[in-house]
Amino acid sequence: MSEPEKSIIDLARGPGAQKESAPEVAPRPQMRRDEATEASNIKDAISQLLKKVESKKGWVSITLPSRGVFNEGIKEVKIRPFTYEDERILRSVTRVNEGIKAVSTLMERCIEGISYSDLSLYDKHYLLFKLREISYGNEYPVGIECQHCGEENSLAIELDQLKVDYANEGMEYPTPVVLPDSEVTAYINCPRAKDEGLLNNPAALTDSLWKFIERIESHSDRGIIQGFLTKTTAKDIAVVRQSIFSRKIGLQTDVRFICKHCNADEVMNLPINENFFSVS
Ligand SMILES: [Zn+2]
Repeated sequence: MSEPEKSIIDLARGPGAQKESAPEVAPRPQMRRDEATEASNIKDAISQLLKKVESKKGWVSITLPSRGVFNEGIKEVKIRPFTYEDERILRSVTRVNEGIKAVSTLMERCIEGISYSDLSLYDKHYLLFKLREISYGNEYPVGIECQHCGEENSLAIELDQLKVDYANEGMEYPTPVVLPDSEVTAYINCPRAKDEGLLNNPAALTDSLWKFIERIESHSDRGIIQGFLTKTTAKDIAVVRQSIFSRKIGLQTDVRFICKHCNADEVMNLPINENFFSVS
């Protein structure tokens, strides 16, 4: 994926330059001895300044909530905190749809051991919060509006205290689900990072439901699955849809709090706000 290393001179020549058959050129001037010493002094000074940073930039092993069930045995991946370069990608975002792209680009860069697009959405959601934790810290400040009185409550969420539900390693996958009206068993796949675009688009999701069904009884033919879906009942479809998205696996981001204004006991899903990608 990465390009072969180019020298500054190669880069200055611009793209395409290498394709021409280059005429005989004079050998590149050697770095003079004092320049070489200076370069090495700069390098030494920088690594001295970064002495304590190195250990904080390292890759960390993380067990996926799916414990390998959704990804053919890949239980563990490595993640690393964001760097200056990653921050630049994040800060260059000016529109919402760019934001979604930027987050996936960042996650691709900071996750090793699995292809990002194949991550189950349960694992992806968990890793997103883990990346936030190791990059900016465990405490995440949020303002959550009380559903009773409308008062905004300021909460500081300790991310490492959120509950994680892990898959049972012996779990059957694709997940068998008996549909209520047809009384047949559908084997349901989990949604993955590459499917995320469908989630904000109900029409596209309905058209793509077949993608999440591995087979119905013993039929894995796409034509049979699509034909079945178009002819069965709305209740069967509702169960399919629910089974795709409601596996109880991953980071549980519902937080419970008592409203400081009206004392209501509230449960709200943790929002991803402007503090998510910044130091609290
Ligand atoms: Zn309230």
